Amino acid sequence: MIIEPKTRGFFCLTSHPTGCEANVREQIGYVTEQGQIADGPKNVLVIGASTGYGLASRITTAFGCGAGTVGVFFEKEPIARRPATAGWYNSIAFERAAKTAGLYAKSVNGDAFSDEIKARTVDLLRDGIGPVDLVVYSLASPRRIHPKTGEVAHSVLKPIGKVYEGLTLDTDKKIVKSITIEPATEEEVAATVSVMGGEDWAMWIDALEVAGLLAPGARTISFTYIGSKLTWPIYRAGTIGKAKEDLERAATALDERLATRGGGAHVCVMKALVTQSSSAIPVVPLYISLLYRVMKEKNLHEGSIEQIHRLFATHLYTGGSPPLLPPTDEHGLIRLDDREMRDEVQNALVPLWGTVSTENLSEIADFEGYQAEFLKLFGFGLAGIDYAADVDHQLQFES
Ligand code: NAD
Repeated sequence: MIIEPKTRGFFCLTSHPTGCEANVREQIGYVTEQGQIADGPKNVLVIGASTGYGLASRITTAFGCGAGTVGVFFEKEPIARRPATAGWYNSIAFERAAKTAGLYAKSVNGDAFSDEIKARTVDLLRDGIGPVDLVVYSLASPRRIHPKTGEVAHSVLKPIGKVYEGLTLDTDKKIVKSITIEPATEEEVAATVSVMGGEDWAMWIDALEVAGLLAPGARTISFTYIGSKLTWPIYRAGTIGKAKEDLERAATALDERLATRGGGAHVCVMKALVTQSSSAIPVVPLYISLLYRVMKEKNLHEGSIEQIHRLFATHLYTGGSPPLLPPTDEHGLIRLDDREMRDEVQNALVPLWGTVSTENLSEIADFEGYQAEFLKLFGFGLAGIDYAADVDHQLQFES
């Protein structure tokens, strides 16, 4: 099949197997170049392992720490007339590279919110690498079927309490336009907390603990975003922000539990990045286009693999016996958004935010960089790939 990008709003309906493989190899190359992280984890479970921060965590722990990994994700497999989703190809490429490097790597494709997938993962760990010393929880999902009640919750990206009026970017048409978003109802807030909050994270840790699959000193991490005042109404002060507050609540409870066995639980605040989930948040693509421009100019830009590698090498695994605790802010959060939040970056963004328009987008924002990063998520635009060539899109995992 010859595969071309077919973008629809914040999603691309196609993905390219060879391009996805090149993207994964590029990230592996970055991690390998940085050298090994001493005292890193050896057995790792990554939930949400196929794209974005989860994939970068899997690559960093495998190729930077020599870890065996189990990855859980929810991707569409290929069918005769349609390629798979990008995370499917990413994960096949990752597994192949890991196995070539002599590293254990197995994956579970299915709904991580379900009891069935938790049980399948527990069985896989029990029969494979055994207890894990790190659990990375990196899900970003639009919906959750509650495993106990069967209730279906849909997450929404809305302000709370008042209408949001501002600017957003139509990335398909390259137009900056006004947007009005009505505030969320109480039910919508609760549903978003159910999908993106901490309950499922705790359920995973429960399942692993009951099965005896948490190694002594096991740690768990998840990710959040705080960001600039410019995106607060829609992010931190909106429905997703409420879900992230719940994630932080869960982390505090998990930390108390895991600390008794020498481990801990942490929420890591990451920078804004182009990923499949961040592209779906209104306002955020416009903010990211401006942010990338400013951070690249100031030589402060990082992608997902650079952020995650820095997290592991300079915050999470810094040696010591017993292991040194990661540095946190006064709320117990690990801050990897320090570069995005610097005054020099935020102060440069404010006037740009006030003047950005369709006409000056290419001049004052890094829209081309945004688009290139977006297409790269689906395996398009990578150097050295012949996109006119017929490729085998029906790739499958080795058993
Ligand atoms: P992403 O969309 O790239 O990855 C999401 C992952 O979750 C994929 O592996 C996907 O397969 C998996 N997934 C989704 N639903 C699932 C389900 N039901 N069962 C199993 N797997 C499922 O997202 P991302 O941007 O890397 O986000 C990961 C985390 O990082 C999220 O908590 C997000 O809020 C946080 N974060 C993102 C940013 C950003 O700018 N992208 C910044 C800070 C924090």
